[in-house]
This record gives sequence, structure tokens and C-alpha cells, in this order.
Amino acid sequence: MSFSKLGLSAPILKAIEDQGYTEPSAIQAQAIPAILDGQDVMAAAQTGTGKTAGFTLPLLETLSKGELAQSNQVRALVLTPTRELAAQVAESVKNYGQHLPLKSTVVFGGVKINPQMMALRRGADILIATPGRMMDLYNQKAVRFDKLEVLVLDEADRMLDMGFIHDIKKILAILPKKRQNLLFSATFSPEIRQLAKGLVNNPVEISVTPRNATAVSVEQWLHPVDKKRKTELLIKLVKDGRWDQALVFSRTKHGANKITKQLEDAGIRASAIHGNKSQGARTRALSDFKDGRIRILVATDIAARGLDIEQLPHVVNFDLPDVAEDYVHRIGRTGRAGATGKAISLVAADELDQLRAIERLTQKLIERRYEDDFMPTHMLPDTTLDTRPIKPNKPKRNKSDGAPRQGNSPRGKQGNAPKSGNRRPTDGRRSEDKSQPAKADVTPGQGLRSKPLAPARRNRRPATQEK
Ligand code: AMP
Repeated sequence: MSFSKLGLSAPILKAIEDQGYTEPSAIQAQAIPAILDGQDVMAAAQTGTGKTAGFTLPLLETLSKGELAQSNQVRALVLTPTRELAAQVAESVKNYGQHLPLKSTVVFGGVKINPQMMALRRGADILIATPGRMMDLYNQKAVRFDKLEVLVLDEADRMLDMGFIHDIKKILAILPKKRQNLLFSATFSPEIRQLAKGLVNNPVEISVTPRNATAVSVEQWLHPVDKKRKTELLIKLVKDGRWDQALVFSRTKHGANKITKQLEDAGIRASAIHGNKSQGARTRALSDFKDGRIRILVATDIAARGLDIEQLPHVVNFDLPDVAEDYVHRIGRTGRAGATGKAISLVAADELDQLRAIERLTQKLIERRYEDDFMPTHMLPDTTLDTRPIKPNKPKRNKSDGAPRQGNSPRGKQGNAPKSGNRRPTDGRRSEDKSQPAKADVTPGQGLRSKPLAPARRNRRPATQEK
């Protein structure tokens, strides 16, 4: 299949060629014709599947046919949960639309509002925004939606996780009723289906990543290790493995700072990215990481969500996440763009509940690898696969980033899983894992497999610029 068969015009095909893409990804092949046809679309696709181009390319095509945006008007609104994702989508819109006369603007919080108001005065064919800042701008009459043609919700699941539901409802209320709606989400949770009910009309449903399955080309394992020796082990893995770059996940902002300092003290260039950092610091950390000036980026889940970092070879779960779905999102940062990634978790005995919840969600036991010098004194008990279905949970507050969260909290939910003793392995691997390659695979029969994308050319500008 080639892009030219999808109904896109020459300026867009040229931009695609400039990017070095040779063929559409699965999500693009399905979403582009449906969007060009004017239909509402509901797509389950994680970052790394090419979803951004999946909605941006047909959006540009459709908008290029109509009248350009007038002062303060917006023709297409793309809502994203985080500033980083907003900046990345804006960058894609600029890249793919470089041969078209369309104007695009990005707005998000944490930076001055005035330059954003000035930019909107010219009107925007495409506005990319985080919900809170968008409402501020609307309330200050900096933006009008009477000519809005298309609404895109990107990473809608994360928007709900981050507590944006009220902003989203307010935004829906101010948009014209007649419009095209595109909803993208990593998974179709019951909460997303509920949101979709009041949003999309008779949508084309597309799924390129089976629900809660981990990415296909990610090799995953865990190192059982005592809590207090995690940083030491991380430093050893980075140094002995001569890792070029890795994204390390910390459950808390404080933890992210501490790990970063310890890595730096060990001579490994590192930066932290989390909600307490200023937008400038986050932008700098991300561009330093993208440009290879730092080796390790330490992030909390919310800060890291949606970051488009190409071909990241290693993702480390310094702590297992409290919300099992975050494990799937985290390891989605690796194994991208056709490369096989490695997702490595450092697991202490007191994270057994989280481990069980993750294994239950992904329906896979994670292989254990023991490091000779790091044999834990508190052994991590063995786990067995819990195949009972998971019921949706009530929203709960997330301590680390201060936003309400939803998901399957592992605490108190895994009580029936059989407990096993502190058996110590004799050969460095668990007996049942010996013959098994550590590749993740997808749950069969739940939609299409997401095919890793071919490497894209590295011709990007730094992702975010302070506005
Ligand atoms: P996304 O899922 O939108 O975050 O995109 C993930 C990465 O895939 C980005 O770096 C894109 O530049 C890249 N990409 C998107 N579409 C294609 C394609 N058709 N072929 C190769 N790479 C692509």
C-alpha cells in the first residue's frame, strides 16, 4: 500500500516523502480514508503507531480545500493531555503541512498567555491545545469556534486520567454541534466509551493495538533487587551494558530528582522531567535527550506520556507503577520505529502486588533475571498468572502528580493470587522461563497487531519552544 492510494494531494504527499515514510502504518491506512470521507472516527492506537499522522494528514487535506481561518477563528481543534504532546503534534502539523498555506498554532499552560492571544488573533486553521489553557483563552475571548469543522481528542484516556473531563465537557458545550469528531485513545476503557457516547456519531472504529496488550517488539524482564540498591543496579546496567540512552520511570517526582542526582554523581548525564519542573526545564530536558546531550531521562508517568522519542532502546521501570495500565504505556516508549526495545523493571519485594496486577493485565509473567552482585535479601515471591477478568475501578487520586486517576489499582485486588515461598533461583532465571524468549506478545483475537514503523528520518526541530 502506498500513500498515493489514500486520497491525499501532492503537497501532502511531498511532505510525507520529505519525512522519509514509504508506506502508511496500519492506523494510517484505516483512519485516513475514513477521515477524508468526513466520518467520525474512534481509534485505539498507542503512541508509536503513527497515529499523529493518521489524523493530521487527512485533517490538512480536508482543511486545504476550504476557506482559510479568519481572525480569532479556529477550523480544527486538537486537544492533548500534556504540553509536550501538544508541542509534538504541532510539530507534526508543521512538518506535514509545510507545502500548504494553512496556519497552525499551539497553546498550553505554564507559559505566558499573551503571545498565545496574539497568535490567535491571526486565526488558526488548526489549533493544538491543552484543555485548561484553551478554556482560559476562550474565556478571555481570544478564540472563537463558530467556524469549527473538526475536533480531535488525542490520548483521550490520559485526558480522563488527568482529570480533564470537566474541561472537555465545557469545551464540547461551546463547539458547534455540526462537526467531525476524531477520538484517539491508547485503549477503549469503559470510561472512554462513556465519553464517546456524547461525542462521536456513528463512528468508524479502528483498533491497531489490542486492549492492554504490550507492544509487539519489546523484550521485557525484571531484576529482583532490594529497594535500597536499585540506583546502584541501574548505574551498573547503564555502564556495563554501555547503554546509549534510556528513559527511566519513577513513581514520584521526588524519586525522579533523587535518581537523577545519583546518576549524575556516578558520571552519567541525566535529567528529570515531571510536573514540578518549569515548562522551560521540561523542554530543555527533552531536547537535550533527543539531541543525545543527556543519556538518561528520568520521568514520572504523566510527564512521559506521549513523548515521541524515536528508537529509544531501553525503558527502565525504577519502580513499578501503581496503576497497572501505566506499565503498558511506559514500555510503549521503546521498541518503536521498527527497532526491538528492552523494558527492564527493578522490582523490590514490596512491589509484589503491583507486579501481580501488571502480569494479570498483560496476561504474561515477566521473566526474572538475577544479577549476581545484587541478589536481594528480601526475596520477591514467585507469581502465577491470574486469569480472572479485571473489573473497572472507581477513580482514585494519584499522589505523585496530584491528578485524579482511574485504573486498576493493584492494592487489595490480588488477594486470591496464590502466594509462593521465597524460592531462590539456581541458574539466574526462573525455571518456567528458561525456554521462553522474553518477547512480549499480544493477546490473540483482539483486533489487529500494531506493526512497528520503519525508522523515520531524524529531521526534527526540538519538540517544544517557549512561546
Ligand atoms: P506517533 O504514533 O504519531 O507518535 O508516531 C510515531 C513515530 O512514527 C513518529 O516518529 C513518526 O514520525 C513516525 N511515523 C509516522 N508515520 C510513519 C510512517 N508511515 N512510516 C514511518 N514512520 C512513521
